[in-house]
Amino acid sequence: MNVKKLREEEAFELVGNFVKLPKQKFCESEEETKNFANLLGFPVVLKAVGSKIVHKTEIGAVKIVHSPEELNEAIKKLFSIEGCEKILVQEFVKGVETILGIKKDETFGHVVLFGLGGIYTEIFKDISLRVCPVTNEDAEEMLHELKAGKIFEGFRGIKVNKHEIINAIVGASKLAVKKNIVEMDINPLICNANGCFAVDVRVFVQRL
Ligand code: ADP
Ligand code: MG
Repeated sequence: MNVKKLREEEAFELVGNFVKLPKQKFCESEEETKNFANLLGFPVVLKAVGSKIVHKTEIGAVKIVHSPEELNEAIKKLFSIEGCEKILVQEFVKGVETILGIKKDETFGHVVLFGLGGIYTEIFKDISLRVCPVTNEDAEEMLHELKAGKIFEGFRGIKVNKHEIINAIVGASKLAVKKNIVEMDINPLICNANGCFAVDVRVFVQRL
């Protein structure tokens, strides 16, 4: 299959149709990065972005900067990473890290995946899957199916907006079919009382 990876800017724009995005800007110079980071305030997240950069954490391409004093050094380090074209400056989002994904399967067609994100995805393998498109009821069932499902019901004072998660799952499943997405990964999708925020996105579409 002829597949194309969307640039980060395009990928964020696409997922912005069904989830929230953090306040963010792709910056091309040290000055621009510094100004926008200061505007957002601290802590702030800086990421090296480039067509050849994939697993950012592994190569030190994600930096959480806690104070203005740390900013200059972080920016210099990120721009010196091989393949760094821009720095993505993002608001720091607190919440439960989840994963929302789409895969086009040869047999089933589009499949949507939801579960706990970040390192938890790999450790607990706590995910649920459905064939697209899904209804609100299907999406709610997906949450209940998870071993960590209680987290989405306000367990121990953790506040997440369950309706937004359901909307995100349904929205992703609809868009996947409409735009012929081959693969999409939002990891993490950070969920809190204000909604679900996509902070890391990868999208592959079918080339026409
Ligand atoms: P990659 O998956 O390429 O290593 P991410 O952009 O997912 O890079 O960042 C790695 C981790 O850093 C995330 O799993 C999350 O824990 C944290 N992180 C990234 N962006 C933010 C953000 N805007 N707010 C809070 N935490 C973040
Ligand atoms: Mg990630």
